[in-house]
Amino acid sequence: MAEKFVFEPTKIEQLKDHYDVIIIGSGGAGLTAAIQAHELGLSPVILEKMDKLGGNTTRASSGMNAAETSVQLDHKIVDSFEEFYNETYVGGGKQNNTELLKFFTEHGALAIDWLAQHDIKLDDITITGGMKTMRTHRPSTLAPIGGYLVTELLKWIAKDEIPLFDNIKVTDLLLEDGHIAGVKADAANEVQIKAPSVILATGGFGAGKDLLAKYRSDLLNLRTTNQPGATGDGLKLAEKVGAKLVDMDQVQVHPTVQQDTPHAFLIGEAVRGEGAILVNNAGQRFVNELDTRKNVTKAIDDLGGTGAYLILDRDIRNRVKAIEFYDHVGLVTTGQTIAELAAEINVNADKLEQTISKWNQAVKNHNDTDFGRTTGMERDISDGPFYAIHIAPAVHYTMGGVAINHQTQVLNEAGKAIAGLFAAGEVVGGLHGNNRIGGNSIAETVVFGRQAGQQVFKYLS
Ligand code: ADP
Repeated sequence: MAEKFVFEPTKIEQLKDHYDVIIIGSGGAGLTAAIQAHELGLSPVILEKMDKLGGNTTRASSGMNAAETSVQLDHKIVDSFEEFYNETYVGGGKQNNTELLKFFTEHGALAIDWLAQHDIKLDDITITGGMKTMRTHRPSTLAPIGGYLVTELLKWIAKDEIPLFDNIKVTDLLLEDGHIAGVKADAANEVQIKAPSVILATGGFGAGKDLLAKYRSDLLNLRTTNQPGATGDGLKLAEKVGAKLVDMDQVQVHPTVQQDTPHAFLIGEAVRGEGAILVNNAGQRFVNELDTRKNVTKAIDDLGGTGAYLILDRDIRNRVKAIEFYDHVGLVTTGQTIAELAAEINVNADKLEQTISKWNQAVKNHNDTDFGRTTGMERDISDGPFYAIHIAPAVHYTMGGVAINHQTQVLNEAGKAIAGLFAAGEVVGGLHGNNRIGGNSIAETVVFGRQAGQQVFKYLS
């Protein structure tokens, strides 16, 4: 077996006082932007405030959406940019920024190829809620995408010798004559680092109680799937230099989060995409499980606060590697039979058996007369042992953020670019409208991370 790769952050003594571009954040967007900028001949630096690298990206489990890819054709799936655009637009309540959405949907395939050229192969395909076509790309090992992507991108950061410092928190952006000139940051001491361009890749504010209190105080009592560093620093940094923020009240509550332990674990949409159903305490289905996150969350909330159970079998479990991990940390209940499982989770066994047998019939006929589900019906629930995972909604993703154009330039209130300031990833607002589709956030980090690296190069040329 290959030796486990361990990334060593750059030693603080090596921090220089000047770079071509400072990239704030080491998630998917920051790492991609850095590699792209380096490959164009620039000298980037990545500053990460946490001692753990990879941000929320490491927690992503389902995959990366893209249309018209060669991987899809290998799976005999014929897709189009237009359908990808339309399904994302409808899923986002038609509130998406259409300029960003167009760029996003038309550049996913290039991003998949770019990753493949970097030995990051996403050769398997699944589906997420709100999509009609299988376009969620993931590694053929079926491993969760986030950890895989971050590890593989870090290998390039190491190979390209791109400096990446952890435990450095950017506290201010420096402006000179209306142009970005660098950053102020807290390392062991306060430091100033000069650069003619900065890329904000700081992620969202799903763990930022102050911003949630300001924009969505109704969600303050919910748990979050986010890493503790997801506090919206990038939004505050950008606002201080005049950037416009958009859609700040659009916060995604993810429907399926296991939260009976001190940690809140997101149970990825691929679990439903591969065939799991949701049942209430009475053992009955109550929603099209692959409706958009917004609608599935509402259906679970309407149950009255007790949450619901994902139900699956061995066959489905084998299609999602993350379930092994969920089981390992004690989140999965097992029954050799459906009746045994029902007893374990305190649900009426006859009811659960009836529900599953009706569902299996729907899968067979490809016709869900109860809730109109049309996707994630490739396999039924008949291959024991059977599994249940108790879930409830939790704060997951912040759709709002800094305004950018499709060149990733950060815009001020008047819609004009702030010279030298770029942004990519969750820190950006507008792409997802009022509901982000599963698989679109990883895609966003790679598509717009690459674009930011390229546009910085153009800006500096
Ligand atoms: P994306 O998916 O958009 O790449 P992530 O959440 O994966 O976003 O990564 C964002 C990263 O930015 C996180 O690792 C977070 O800790 C880091 N970060 C946030 N604010 C700062 C800051 N002020 N200085 C340095 N790093 C930051």
